Amino acid sequence: MNPIIGPAVPQRARPEILFPLFAPVTALKGVGPRIGTHIERLVGPQIVDLIWHLPSGTVDRRYSPNLIDLEPGRIATLELTVVKHHAPPAANRRIPYRIDCRDDTGEITLVYFHGRSDYLTKTLPEGETRLVSGTAELYDDKLQMTHPDIVAKLTERNSVMRVQPVYPLTEGLSQNVLGKAVSGALERAPALPEWLDPALVAQREWTDWHTALSAAHAPRELLDLEATSAPRMRLAYDELLASQLAIMLVRSHVRRQSGRPITGNGRLRSRVLDALPFEMTGSQKTAIVDIEENMASEHRMLRLLQGDVGSGKTVVALMAMLTAVEAGRQAALMAPTEILARQHYATIAPLAEAAGVPCVLLTGRDKGKARAAILEGLATGDTPLVVGTHALFQSDIAFNDLAVAVVDEQHRFGVHQRLLLAEKGSMVDVLLMTATPIPRTLMLAAYGDLDESQLREKPAGRKPVKTTTASVDRLHDAVAGVQRQLDAGGKVFWVCPLVEESETIDVAAATARYAALRERFGERVGLVHGKMPGKEKDAVMARFADGVAPEIDVLVATTVIEVGVDVPEATVMVIEHAERFGLAQLHQLRGRIGRGEREATCLLLYGHETGQTGRERLRVLRDTDDGFEIAEQDLRLRGAGDVLGTRQSGLPEFRLVSLEAHGDLLAMARDDARLIMDKDPGLESARGDALRTLLYLFERDAAVRYARSG
Ligand code: ADP
Ligand code: MG
Repeated sequence: MNPIIGPAVPQRARPEILFPLFAPVTALKGVGPRIGTHIERLVGPQIVDLIWHLPSGTVDRRYSPNLIDLEPGRIATLELTVVKHHAPPAANRRIPYRIDCRDDTGEITLVYFHGRSDYLTKTLPEGETRLVSGTAELYDDKLQMTHPDIVAKLTERNSVMRVQPVYPLTEGLSQNVLGKAVSGALERAPALPEWLDPALVAQREWTDWHTALSAAHAPRELLDLEATSAPRMRLAYDELLASQLAIMLVRSHVRRQSGRPITGNGRLRSRVLDALPFEMTGSQKTAIVDIEENMASEHRMLRLLQGDVGSGKTVVALMAMLTAVEAGRQAALMAPTEILARQHYATIAPLAEAAGVPCVLLTGRDKGKARAAILEGLATGDTPLVVGTHALFQSDIAFNDLAVAVVDEQHRFGVHQRLLLAEKGSMVDVLLMTATPIPRTLMLAAYGDLDESQLREKPAGRKPVKTTTASVDRLHDAVAGVQRQLDAGGKVFWVCPLVEESETIDVAAATARYAALRERFGERVGLVHGKMPGKEKDAVMARFADGVAPEIDVLVATTVIEVGVDVPEATVMVIEHAERFGLAQLHQLRGRIGRGEREATCLLLYGHETGQTGRERLRVLRDTDDGFEIAEQDLRLRGAGDVLGTRQSGLPEFRLVSLEAHGDLLAMARDDARLIMDKDPGLESARGDALRTLLYLFERDAAVRYARSG
């Protein structure tokens, strides 16, 4: 369940027809506790998880020659009569177990290393005929097959001599064992009532669900394995429809809980507008109007405000917050890091002061009496505005009357934290802000028809950053470039990547770079990284950003500066191992420079191992400055899961959908779901009933409860 759109609710009974699929995998024949554990690790604990595990390859076992015609090296299914077993002497384990076999045209020996005599005499009794499938080779001019893939009775011909699906495996599972488990699961899959619009099924030339599922597990050729094959498209569409419908059911439930309309008198906002040294851009004005409209309505606001770093989101958010204050209520802005919270506070505090509105900053660093005083102000309502970090989620924090929560870079908050946020006020209007433009496709998948404002215009006076890419071999050129900038009075960010596995190693790399640059440039080089105590970090940042003596001109940093304070004099950014970053992240980093009068340069250095695609990715940044374009490219080149880190981002994890391949189905599924919500929000028609089954099939149980009659 997506934590932003709704809470988890207790499970309601799933339809009986699905029971066979929601048993544990160990209910299948041939799956004991040990294999069950492996399967659970690979796909999940229930039988339904197995039916979603689609093949990644095929093995064609239809070639069935006489021995005299057999092409060595090719997978063949042979009909062999067992002639004689040759068990190795018990003392010598290195000699294999051999079984002589023949057909009417020739002879072949089956070879088993460490073969178990009891098992082999049972499966291949002397004098009997069996189907043996595997790859035969010539050895000293004699045919031999080592460890056949399949030995079966002649009655099993149909299940053996076919194109067999090959499944992705995990350690401890063999193709045979997993293949049997999947077949067993498929046998339990019932025919289900059609939940799709028959016109759509006909137009796409799809089959019913059960047929599509069977076909997806029975590929005949490589094309059948493609995400765009008809059976896989149908299954993906089912999953998308389930997800969109679930989102809409929950959202409409949330919307029906009417909120308190919030309208201000404009008194505070006009004071702030007067105090601003600039004119709002067109897209800022539009966003503000849209937000005010949401707040004034009966329904709860859930709006995403997207815009590049520096596009002016903070002032837009402030307008929303002040609207709440004008209505006598409170507003909070939450940021995922302390530096980011401070930066927002630095923007907001002077403007709030100009409007005469008390505003506080709350971070994890506030302790004891200072913290108690802040909490007091929030609890009484004397402090209407607060900017803070995760500290705002803590359980002892209570608001007098929280009306608006602005959440910045929300994908960086953990799921748990966002759940806590939702509990801080009833019917709080939520404004999500992000500088990492979420591609349209992902947005839709995650939130359905979430309201959205985009700040695409850059505030007047911003110049694009000149971006170049080069191999790390050109490091000396980079250093020379830094020298030139310093001579001209500029400041330089030098970014070393943070690789999640080991912060210690990253810090070591940054520290080494710091030492090297210090040899060259002396005292004017500084270092910040995530492991430094907050106070020390602040001190270094102040020396770099505000020119506190002794001044720093070159700041070596791990990605903590991604959200660092504005430094208009910074004209250069060097990013080492740029290939390790996401494009959106690089774009955001780059947004730290180019804020001043002079032209700024960003140099992306990539490592030796960077392949063609990696370099192509970086070139996207060189060629465009449009964050939205960059986000789409990032999705195209990396895949959805990587763009935001699916797990942390709260984006849905699909079983059958690949947003790259099935992106166009998503909009269809959304329209379809909307139509259903218009016509049959209670899911009471025959199709509605089938749709309930669909929701349960994809474990969107909670959403079913929100169907109006439920
Ligand atoms: P974001 O939060 O989108 O990164 P900010 O809101 O922090 O951007 O704005 C960045 C800087 O630009 C701030 O100093 C802000 O005062 C300034 N700014 C905002 N809107 C405008 C505008 N319309 N014209 C000029 N400067 C602006
Ligand atoms: Mg900002």
